[in-house]
Amino acid sequence: MVTTTSSTKLPNTAGRPVVFDADNKVNLLGLTRPRLRDFFQQIGEKPFRTDQLLKWIHQRGVTNFDDMTDLSKALRVKLSQLAEITPPEVVSEHISTDGTRKWAVKVTSGSLVETVFIPDGERGTLCISSQVGCTLDCSFCSTGKQGFQRDLTCAEIIGQVWLANRSLTKFDPQARRAVTNVVMMGMGEPLLNFDNAIDAANLSMDDCAYGLSKRRVTLSTSGVVPAMKKMIGMTDVSLAVSLHAANNELRNELVPINKKYPIAVLLEAIKNYMDSLPDRRRVVTIEYTLMDGVNDSDEQARELVDVLRDTPCKINIIPFNPFPQSGYKKPSRRRTERFQDILFKAGYIVTVRTTRGDDIDAACGQLVGQVKDKTKRNERYQQKYSEINKDAEQVVRFVSAQQ
Ligand code: SF4
Repeated sequence: MVTTTSSTKLPNTAGRPVVFDADNKVNLLGLTRPRLRDFFQQIGEKPFRTDQLLKWIHQRGVTNFDDMTDLSKALRVKLSQLAEITPPEVVSEHISTDGTRKWAVKVTSGSLVETVFIPDGERGTLCISSQVGCTLDCSFCSTGKQGFQRDLTCAEIIGQVWLANRSLTKFDPQARRAVTNVVMMGMGEPLLNFDNAIDAANLSMDDCAYGLSKRRVTLSTSGVVPAMKKMIGMTDVSLAVSLHAANNELRNELVPINKKYPIAVLLEAIKNYMDSLPDRRRVVTIEYTLMDGVNDSDEQARELVDVLRDTPCKINIIPFNPFPQSGYKKPSRRRTERFQDILFKAGYIVTVRTTRGDDIDAACGQLVGQVKDKTKRNERYQQKYSEINKDAEQVVRFVSAQQ
């Protein structure tokens, strides 16, 4: 029997300790390969257990150590004393007439976040949340209107992928893969929850977990530039950036983080991240929510062409989905087509996102969840920035020292 009297700490490869003791079990669902390996080292087990555990948890959906039949009885007992596998809880499921599913997922604070599955032929895209609410308050986003409560843990983020697989395939190894793509575009700004979001992205791509290709896992950011710098070397997840305007005056209004990191600085950060990826053919996805009379004119389309001239990208136009008190309107179909046409003729790959799950409020920008115990947005916002800026400065210093 293993007993511990105090918390055990050992830095993992990313410098973050796995902390646990007999009274404070570690949730293995949220541990990436390096962190799980550290955990096994700490409890005196061989590193090859890492692959076994990852497969049991993420590929077979097993949460009870007793069912892990290729582990010794003694190890199963040890694990059940020190660890747990606890996914978040689904409290409701809605299925749209178009097949889109939306789950309300309860996290430990009692708040709800939303996860959406969008089937499209062979493709199944899962849109996951990374925070309870959001600090950034983009003017057209219903999540932003909810305020902010807290970051999700990695177990709560990857747990959404786990729950979707359980719901869609029951982890049946014979079943066709249901979730083929994961996008972090649900509630929250993933890069303001850096460690947990990057861990969840890396787990989605781990061959012993969900095994998705790097082109099929996308992290979407509104432009937290220091965190984009910090991503370099830590992940090769695909990047999407919510631009929504081609000049600073309008973007300051729509995406307030632009006041801190204006468009030129953002485009530079995109370039640096894309240049860091070994496959030079990869491009960033530029998200552009099109709003009637706000950013949908011919002139604004031409301005976008101009501003993106040196950025290898594809452009995803998202016709705005109105929600109560949003104050913005959906663009007409004719306007949307015209905007797309101008970009297309300038040589860009342009897609227009079809609205899915509208009847269950699962469309883009409609995710609201339920945020309990709201704290002051600005306080959180400032704190997050100073932490991330500090981290980014350390990374820059480290990289400079290596050169
Ligand atoms: S668009 Fe994204 S970053 Fe902006 S408020 Fe909404 S969830 Fe936050």
